[in-house]
Amino acid sequence: MKASSGLKRLSTLALRQRREGLAKRLPPVEETLRGSLVERYLTCGNPACKCARGQRHGPVWYLTVTLGPGRTTGGILAAEQLDQVRGWIGNYHQVKEHLEAISTINRELLRRARRPARNR
Ligand SMILES: [Zn+2]
Repeated sequence: MKASSGLKRLSTLALRQRREGLAKRLPPVEETLRGSLVERYLTCGNPACKCARGQRHGPVWYLTVTLGPGRTTGGILAAEQLDQVRGWIGNYHQVKEHLEAISTINRELLRRARRPARNR
């Protein structure tokens, strides 16, 4: 949601209702995961293997997580974990989007609170 310009046209009541809706539609926070899924196809090092002729093994799925500038962590995922991990990563982004939208609404509410009453 591209925020503040559109929000300025809404009533304070409408802003509060939108904020309430965003909070209610938060995905379960305990089912969130920050990171990315990466798909890799690997060679095993055996020169007689088909992977040495281009038919690599895989896909192998990794979760990678950035911890800071140049620092990442993560690990291999089992195939049966992929759906769950995709869901958790999606939830993480949705929680972030909702928090961002709530913050934008709250900035607008703060702005109104320090303006004259005509804007309320
Ligand atoms: Zn191989």
